[in-house]
Amino acid sequence: MTAGTTPTGREAEMVKATQILTAAVVAMTAVLTAESSLEAQGLSLTVRLRNDAKAPDYIVRGAKRVVSQIYERAGVNLIWVEGGAKINIILPVRDEGWKLHQPPNAMGFAPGTENQRCTVAYVLMHRVEEVSAGYHAEIGEVLGAAIAHELGHLLLPHNSHSQTGLMRPEWNQRDFRSGQRGDLVFTADQTAQIHQSPVVIRQSFID
Ligand SMILES: [Zn+2]
Repeated sequence: MTAGTTPTGREAEMVKATQILTAAVVAMTAVLTAESSLEAQGLSLTVRLRNDAKAPDYIVRGAKRVVSQIYERAGVNLIWVEGGAKINIILPVRDEGWKLHQPPNAMGFAPGTENQRCTVAYVLMHRVEEVSAGYHAEIGEVLGAAIAHELGHLLLPHNSHSQTGLMRPEWNQRDFRSGQRGDLVFTADQTAQIHQSPVVIRQSFID
């Protein structure tokens, strides 16, 4: 028998193994390519959360998860950073929070005018705690929704409250029932506007 004509039993096994391996590599490449192209089309935004109010870590972590989920549904990947962010969310120390507190029922605010969008928004922990107690909702859920709302003000045009969704000026208990976050999402129009925000960047690579 000449090598290369009829494979021996061991060679046949190796050929089969190579074929299986090749198939696996092809399949894996297909998955990676699909994921890469999704990532490549994705929009992202760097955000820093400054916890001057010293809210407990687990609440801040829970809140960040809520904010990320809301923005993921709007097609934006939030990247939480410690510095050099496009957007800063500040939880003021409690005493300052009382002083900054403008309308008595506001949980937060985002300074800005028709012509100028700011890059800093504030969320007041004492109000978040009151609202979460009133709604029997987790503090992290309410904090996350409040941050997502104020962040929305920084990305959307001035006075961007809407009749439905996350950008309603007032929420109710239904919004937080069983941690479902009911209607707290951006409308289709708002989602399109957010995609146009100059601080939202289109990812061109994966790091
Ligand atoms: Zn608002």
